[in-house]
Amino acid sequence: MNLINDSDRHMARMMCVMALKSSEDTARRVARQHLSAAQNGIAQGRIAYGWVRKGEHKGQLVPDEADLVVRIYQDFMSGESAYAIAKRFNVEGIKPPEARTWSSNMINKMLRNPRYAGMVAYGGRHRVGGTRVDDGWSLVLFDDDGRPYLGSWEPIITPKLWSQVQFELQRRRQEAGIHLGKARPAPVRKYFLSGILRCSKCDRGLVGHAYKQRKTGKVVRDYICPPTVQGGCGGTAIAASTTDAAIEEAISAFLRKQLRTAADNQESAADAITALQARVDQDLARKSDLIQRWSSGTLHETGLSEEDYFAMLSGLN
Ligand SMILES: [Zn+2]
Repeated sequence: MNLINDSDRHMARMMCVMALKSSEDTARRVARQHLSAAQNGIAQGRIAYGWVRKGEHKGQLVPDEADLVVRIYQDFMSGESAYAIAKRFNVEGIKPPEARTWSSNMINKMLRNPRYAGMVAYGGRHRVGGTRVDDGWSLVLFDDDGRPYLGSWEPIITPKLWSQVQFELQRRRQEAGIHLGKARPAPVRKYFLSGILRCSKCDRGLVGHAYKQRKTGKVVRDYICPPTVQGGCGGTAIAASTTDAAIEEAISAFLRKQLRTAADNQESAADAITALQARVDQDLARKSDLIQRWSSGTLHETGLSEEDYFAMLSGLN
């Protein structure tokens, strides 16, 4: 298409909207399949350290590795840092999973993994709120009654020890001045239509490509169809700046239209959002307090039974 031309530009906008729609549909379908597997307690993705990772006995407990996992949890609760644990394992010559040496990052991941306590971990879509808090609880999948889904594998850590570790992780983060929910900045993508635009000749997704113009020495960015060895036909190239600008224009036109419709209800919406945010914060605090009481075994002090606990957790979820 020639994006200088008005009708071609209109066509490009429409095609991008369609492409975005269909890639969203695919993402939703894949997410739904993963969710249903997770709800059935089927282990997904790579099997964690502590269980057989490949072959006939996949998913069975590896006693030596399980002992080490227990040791990590216990050492952490006795006040050691993830860094100190990793360092000691390296000194002792213990071999880590799929790497040469242990790192504090690995230990931290293991301390957060709900699978060790037999609970299903799920990081996909179909989640509400949870991911705001960066500890293992945000990975746990709950059913409609507020009970964690349990996996089909043999747990290594008791849910109570695991919960205590999550509180200890939070406590140490706060002590170090790291606030909840403030993750690293999102990666910058220079070619935001890579894989969304398609080659009109062979239908392969176009990819970003930069080269230096010989005459001017300026860097030019294109979307190109990759060569045949990479599954394309190499027959299409389109200027990234013009294309990106056309899409941006279309998106802002779309958003302006949305905003116009929303403008009328704006003030009442702002109030409603403030009120809802306050309620979410309050409920998160109550949930955190409840889980802490359960994990430290002081539930009875407030006159609550385990049944009450799950009922309340369900309500809060
Ligand atoms: Zn092509």
